[in-house]
Amino acid sequence: MPTMGALHAGHASLIERARQECDHVGVSIFVNPTQFGAGEDFERYPRCLETDLEMLERMRVDLVWTPTVETMYAPGFQTWITVEELSAPLEGFWRPGHFRGVATVVAKLFNAFLPHKAYFGQKDAQQAVVIKRMVQDLNFPVEIVVCPTVREPDGLALSSRNVYLNEEERKAAVVLYRALTAAKVKFDGGERDAQQLRETMRTVIRSEPLAQEQYVSAADPETLEELKTIQHSVLLSLAVKIGKTRLIDNFLLQGGS
Ligand code: AMP
Repeated sequence: MPTMGALHAGHASLIERARQECDHVGVSIFVNPTQFGAGEDFERYPRCLETDLEMLERMRVDLVWTPTVETMYAPGFQTWITVEELSAPLEGFWRPGHFRGVATVVAKLFNAFLPHKAYFGQKDAQQAVVIKRMVQDLNFPVEIVVCPTVREPDGLALSSRNVYLNEEERKAAVVLYRALTAAKVKFDGGERDAQQLRETMRTVIRSEPLAQEQYVSAADPETLEELKTIQHSVLLSLAVKIGKTRLIDNFLLQGGS
């Protein structure tokens, strides 16, 4: 299970699931510089190795790897993995090069751990889609397991970045969940026009003064192409800045009609 540390109950749920399904569980903690863009939060990303290791020990994780940047990217490093089309929209549009960094480091971690299964969170929906594609395209002998998003009682998805939020921003941050929920209510009521769902999310975000939308999306869960009419399922996703902190969230909705 690849992580960037600053572990929380979301990470714990993946580890728990892996513990149930596997004989041995390995976790990596690596804040991967190549998936951060210039001006992003690589330097100030929360790092708390000691408490992370305590938690992993409590959870009876068998192996933890905490490589340095120099170990991962030795001098002369020049081999990259690009999952081309799936990396282009949404997060990829706003964070150019992000998924090249993610795919490359995950491929390296797969080669280092040689796992039978690897666990990822639905919280990072596009990441899971990109990694699944890479595994299929490059014949990695690993099964990708995607686990549900763990949330705070008010609906905010757990994230290592939530520590950036001050008290007022923390309250405002629930707007992502409120926007997704408002669109889900419409979907459950039979709305199949994807633009209507995008507009519903947009309206909720606009109602929160501290929030600034980067994107809202109602896309095909596999191709990530924006939908016009929803046939079966839809991935609702959004990225919103709350003050200076950028947050993402999503709902995967399956329609019965
Ligand atoms: P990160 O340390 O942020 O790179 O996350 C490591 C893994 O944990 C990724 O597969 C994430 O999608 C997953 N993850 C992060 N937050 C959550 C959450 N709230 N619920 C479930 N999984 C999560």
